Amino acid sequence: MSEVFQSVQVLPGVGPKRLEPLAELGIETVYDLLTHFPFRYEDIQIRDVQTIMDQEKVTLKGLVATQPVVSYYGFKKNRLAFRMAIEKQVIQVAFFNQPYLKDKIVQGEEIAIYGKWDAKRTTLMGMKILSNRNVEDEEGDQVEAVYRTNKSLKQATILKLVQTAMERFEDKIPEVLPKELTASHHLMGHRDAVRAMHFPKDELERQSAQYQLVYQELFLYQLRLQWMRQKRHQQTKGQAVLYDNATLKTFIQTLPFELTDGQKKVVNEICFDLRAPYEMNRLLQGDVGSGKTIVATIAMVATALTGKQAALMVPTEILAEQHMLTIEKLIQGTPLKAVLLTGSMNRSQKKRKELLATIESGEANLVIGTHALFQQDVNFKDLAFVVIDEQHRFGVQQRQALAGKGAGVNVLQMTATPIPRTLAITAFGEMDTSILGEIPRGRQPIKTTWVREQEMEQIFDFVERQIQKGRQAYMISPLIEESEHLDVQNAEEIYRMISAHFSDRVKVGLLHGKMPADEKEAVMADFKANKLQVLVSTTVIEVGVDVPNATVMVILDADRFGLAQLHQLRGRVGRGQHASTCILVASPKTENGKERMRIMCESTDGFYLSQKDLELRGSGDVFGVKQSGIPDFKIADLIRDYDILEQARKDAILYASEDPAGEKAETKRMKAFIKQTTKEING
Ligand code: ADP
Ligand code: MG
Repeated sequence: MSEVFQSVQVLPGVGPKRLEPLAELGIETVYDLLTHFPFRYEDIQIRDVQTIMDQEKVTLKGLVATQPVVSYYGFKKNRLAFRMAIEKQVIQVAFFNQPYLKDKIVQGEEIAIYGKWDAKRTTLMGMKILSNRNVEDEEGDQVEAVYRTNKSLKQATILKLVQTAMERFEDKIPEVLPKELTASHHLMGHRDAVRAMHFPKDELERQSAQYQLVYQELFLYQLRLQWMRQKRHQQTKGQAVLYDNATLKTFIQTLPFELTDGQKKVVNEICFDLRAPYEMNRLLQGDVGSGKTIVATIAMVATALTGKQAALMVPTEILAEQHMLTIEKLIQGTPLKAVLLTGSMNRSQKKRKELLATIESGEANLVIGTHALFQQDVNFKDLAFVVIDEQHRFGVQQRQALAGKGAGVNVLQMTATPIPRTLAITAFGEMDTSILGEIPRGRQPIKTTWVREQEMEQIFDFVERQIQKGRQAYMISPLIEESEHLDVQNAEEIYRMISAHFSDRVKVGLLHGKMPADEKEAVMADFKANKLQVLVSTTVIEVGVDVPNATVMVILDADRFGLAQLHQLRGRVGRGQHASTCILVASPKTENGKERMRIMCESTDGFYLSQKDLELRGSGDVFGVKQSGIPDFKIADLIRDYDILEQARKDAILYASEDPAGEKAETKRMKAFIKQTTKEING
């Protein structure tokens, strides 16, 4: 492999003591140094000699008046000197330990040099020769790179190291992208791009350079994902679930409603993976209320019908219980047995032991639960399929821990938080994806309005009218991020206020995270059965809760929530055939807060909202970046470089499909390059 992947220690000026501070900046090889790009640029003004202070850093332009002379002294030290004429004045220029610059200095030619002014000696201590083209440019057009530094590595040191590395290794920087892509996207060479990022001739060149680098980084990343996906599809260690099609069809016919076309398509995609000899690794994205539960249930039933086990993991107990009820009802006509395993069962060790025994013996075909599922003492007889609902609520390790409870387990992850495409194709690029675009028929759009607290009375009237029509309402208490304790207090207060307002006319319930599990369960059951008409709740109901008769969602202090969260909360209504309303109660003080309220009123499209959320909050916040598996890119920015990402992904998919065996010389070259430049490779 190319010499640029040697340790930076090969560079003069990098002794053992420098290695650690360099490593702190992520620089270990010469290539790392060369791709330690400036994070901004400073204008360099070409200055008049008369106005310069001693020790000031300046750029001077003039004519080379004498031949440069290199003189050696001490051990391996040398000095290159010549005279430069600036109008009528002649100054001395000196460069230390860069004898190779000699070729660039031609007597009689114009030159521009950046350096430190030594007034006593009327000498410019040279740091950098600016390229000839710049010299002809307008004055003030010159920029200098500014680098990320640390305590022991100063700006000038890094610049010097980069310069040295460029001088010595520029022609060793490899060109790795396939030629056709470089040509079709009119990319400059990688080598030129690296140079131009450090020493751009002008802004235009810098932009082209950045384009090349971003494209290369994203293309290679997407290619790795495609290779991982290819590899998975080629292996045969996954559990093939060979269910009987006719039996499954009969089961589907017993469902209380007809599947939408979207659901049918997604069921087919999942079932295809189940039958295949490779491990399924699929992401099901569907907006809130799109009907993912039933899709997962069908695939779980398909698995269980073969005698193997399937598990469904959800992030909250409320949701686990709800899914348990739903699924039990759906499988009534089958011989299958479903069990529920949650954390609160720890309170009865005996019951928990019995449950674990049914899972271990295989008596339980379908296992539904929370984080309790991946605990160490949970053993399955023959786990073949795992569904992770609201996947973004779990860490990578937690998901893996559950899948690890069987061999070659098929994994389906579901998310109701529509993920902006930029993040999805990066974090989940290796996965196969299914999208539930369409919402079940007979739904009416949710109307969203934004009101101020002063209008509370009207809201109460509206809620009461809905209740008289037989409907139900949620009321979400304000989020107090600092303290769960205050959160609960707040919910209790609002509960008292609302109960008092409606007195006997309406039954009001309260739900919050600090309640014991059986109490939560009882409240949810009562609300589901319409024994309670208003449910005051904290955000514990944010995910998954499904009560189709509820048609009003009132969110107090709505501006305290992010868009994605508001969308999730709103998704609790609009699940049945009746028209639903979401009321945002907020008096936002910031422009950002007002903007969020406006966006919520104007759109119910989860994908649009998640994209807006991303723009308003930045990619780090939408979900924990580390958790979501998005790498730290060296130069690409997923929001800024959205278009390039899309293009790079398309190109990567095509490229990988054209060389499935990885035989092309270009493929081998890229693989070698990735190996050299990626620290944690597993593809
Ligand atoms: P989510 O995708 O948000 O998890 P759910 O699976 O909870 O959505 O489904 C939302 C509601 O839509 C549920 O009440 C469910 O019973 C209902 N539903 C799902 N599929 C259909 C369908 N094909 N026709 C009618 N209602 C459906
Ligand atoms: Mg759901």
